[in-house]
Amino acid sequence: MKSFRQELQSALDERKRSALFRQRRTLFSPQGTEVILDGEHVTSFCSNDYLGLADHPDVVTAFHEGLDKFGAGSGASHLVSGHLVPHEALEQELAEFTYRSRALVFSSGYMANVGVLTTLLNNNDVVLEDRLNHASLLDGGLFSGARFKRFAHLDTADLEKKLSSLQDARRKLVVADGVFSMDGDIAPVPELIRVTNEHDGLLMIDDAHGIGVLGRNGGGTIAHWQEQGAHIDEDNLQILIGTFGKSFGASGAFVAGSEELIETLIQFCRPYIYTTAISPAQAEAIRTSLKIIQKDNWRRQYLAQLISRFRAHCDDLGLTTMASSTPIQAVVIGDVSKTVQASEQLMQEGVFVSAIRPPTVPAGTARLRVTFSALHTETQFQKLLDVFEKYAHSWGKES
Ligand SMILES: *Cc1c(COP(=O)(O)O)cnc(C)c1O
Repeated sequence: MKSFRQELQSALDERKRSALFRQRRTLFSPQGTEVILDGEHVTSFCSNDYLGLADHPDVVTAFHEGLDKFGAGSGASHLVSGHLVPHEALEQELAEFTYRSRALVFSSGYMANVGVLTTLLNNNDVVLEDRLNHASLLDGGLFSGARFKRFAHLDTADLEKKLSSLQDARRKLVVADGVFSMDGDIAPVPELIRVTNEHDGLLMIDDAHGIGVLGRNGGGTIAHWQEQGAHIDEDNLQILIGTFGKSFGASGAFVAGSEELIETLIQFCRPYIYTTAISPAQAEAIRTSLKIIQKDNWRRQYLAQLISRFRAHCDDLGLTTMASSTPIQAVVIGDVSKTVQASEQLMQEGVFVSAIRPPTVPAGTARLRVTFSALHTETQFQKLLDVFEKYAHSWGKES
């Protein structure tokens, strides 16, 4: 009989054989566009720090000042004694920023998603998720015990068909990313609202990659659609999720919505209740990020310029990109080993681009995931274009 450790080892070996084994690399520098990775200086195109706030001097200073004023740890969960002035202020500012009645801060996006879904749904309900939703949304839906349905990516006709075929359910919750984390495309929120409304459903959008990046003042996917005339409020998009780990340059997350939604989470959401509040100093840093996000439109404008130039370059090289106008640019290679090899070629040139493999993305769509930051310099950007030009021919499907 195999020992416990042998059992684990054979599953690990299997993962290595299928080229899916993952290894962490250690950064010896702050997150940024030039990082020291396992001792080597490389230009990074693979953080989610889209606006370049993770190491922004004002954000770092706010963290320092928060430490001086409020100490390192919150000391308890929010409901016991860990809810400090910075948390309270941050929630009010987020409610204003998102035009929602209230907002609630969570320790991570994963916990916010699992918490919201397991609090609002049970086996009397149905959850309908875009096939490419983030793992935390899929997990939350599965953990909730609700009937679980997936609809084809961005396909509101398929969603409508699935909603129409449902028998009586107490709640029908439609869930989608605002900006999809591996493809970079944007959810058709006005259409999702229309279809969901027609079938008396509820809508939840997780805008982890959209907040700060899309819309004037960084209002995210909602602002993006509102600028095109859509009418969106907390009665037709009941649950809005944002995270602090991407454009905010920190970590943590929030849920925004009606008074009743937020109070329900405070009372019943176990991943909110039974965990220590984030550091108050971190809440101070996040408040500063929020101010920068709202005022620095140049960061979004500069990103837009990098994105369109990169896409044009990939077209010229005959590479397959996903339809994305966001800083997430996926270059699909398909074959897993070839994708890993491409990432290694780039690394040899000092360019850090991650290879994304199944099961994170569907089988056969392994890809390079290039992400842009508002802090990428022209020189760094040109280097990326040059190394793509040098190697793209060897990434083809048949070679
Ligand atoms: C990153 C991400 C999360 C998880 O957020 P964390 O704060 O990192 O746990 C949730 N949803 C989406 C769409 C994400 O991209």
